[in-house]
Amino acid sequence: MSGGNCLKLVPSSNRMTRTEKLLAELIALPSVNPAFAPSDGASARQTRQPHPFMGEQSVADFCAATAASAGLEVEFQKVLPGRFNFIARLRPQNKIKQTILLAPHLDTVGADGTKFIPQRRNGRLYGRGACDTKGSVAAMLSALCELANAKSRPLETEIVFVGLIDEEHAQAGSRALAKSRFKADLAIVGEPTKLQVVIAHKGSLWLEVETHGKAAHGATPQFGRNAVHEMARIVDLLETDYAAQLRRRKHPLLGAATVNVGTISGGTQPNIVPDSCKITVDRRTVPGETDAGARREIAALLRARKLSAKISSAKLAPAVPLETNHKLPLVRRFMKCVGQTKPRGVDFFCDAAVLSAGGIPSVVFGPGDIAQAHTADEWISLAELERGKDLILKFLKSLP
Ligand SMILES: [Zn+2]
Repeated sequence: MSGGNCLKLVPSSNRMTRTEKLLAELIALPSVNPAFAPSDGASARQTRQPHPFMGEQSVADFCAATAASAGLEVEFQKVLPGRFNFIARLRPQNKIKQTILLAPHLDTVGADGTKFIPQRRNGRLYGRGACDTKGSVAAMLSALCELANAKSRPLETEIVFVGLIDEEHAQAGSRALAKSRFKADLAIVGEPTKLQVVIAHKGSLWLEVETHGKAAHGATPQFGRNAVHEMARIVDLLETDYAAQLRRRKHPLLGAATVNVGTISGGTQPNIVPDSCKITVDRRTVPGETDAGARREIAALLRARKLSAKISSAKLAPAVPLETNHKLPLVRRFMKCVGQTKPRGVDFFCDAAVLSAGGIPSVVFGPGDIAQAHTADEWISLAELERGKDLILKFLKSLP
């Protein structure tokens, strides 16, 4: 499916703005994160053909053509084999005094084929990625293209748009950008925040906890040591006493830290005393907590209750919490442009924490509601999309 084809599917009687047209074209270019098998993935794997919906490249190429035709400098940053961050740059006339980064991600979660045909109904655009986060891509890229052709634009501020890959899986795109020498004075990470400037979100630590016992015949369990029973005590401890302890650890914007035992597996059959059991735990951290600290805390709690288990990390890369100082001049200016007096926090993790940990002060902002993200019925309000573009443009135009 090409970007051009999708336009025929949108009623031609409805006049589309540049931002809406761009979003419709982006939805029609599937960019499912390769980490998620598509619904017909089995057949794709059998034929060993790359699945046509997989990967960000077609969206990155399309963004590059759009940016180049608006006169922006375009480059790609290699991140993974065949997967590149897309970068568009608007340099100021004078010497660069500051850099603003606009950073939405290009990948989406999976969907059936019908979700890559954009549908416009009742002031909404439906389709995979509409709000998470092709809406932000469209709003930010159109704002930048419009600015590039505006009569007055910042004289000393450089503006860089980066379409990041792999946010939905392991954030390889933002991690690579943070690791490169790239520096900016403020990053606006595109995610559906209903056009609220978000300065804080929780981190997510995944742990694997394993108990070991001694196998024995089910008829003589007294000769064994039951690893499932030991784990049952651990699960109970985490979900009751530990969860209560965390509920008291409140962040003003994010509420309390949490713990969830997400999976459990142990034993092989009814008549064998199980010698091992494993759970995975999702521990949501609040700013001020560290992954190592949370892990030490759980280990100490188990020791204190004389429960023995091996604890290891179950994530490829750390997902730390985000907290950016809302008094930073650029954050204040952005909030003022948006008309917001109080900073906000959200529950979901995103690229902002990665960039922030890499030394770039980061906020999260974009049109759409996270409630529609990852659903079979993903949509975005077209009025909000347009307003998002306008607010970003207003902020960029306000810069020196
Ligand atoms: Zn998402």
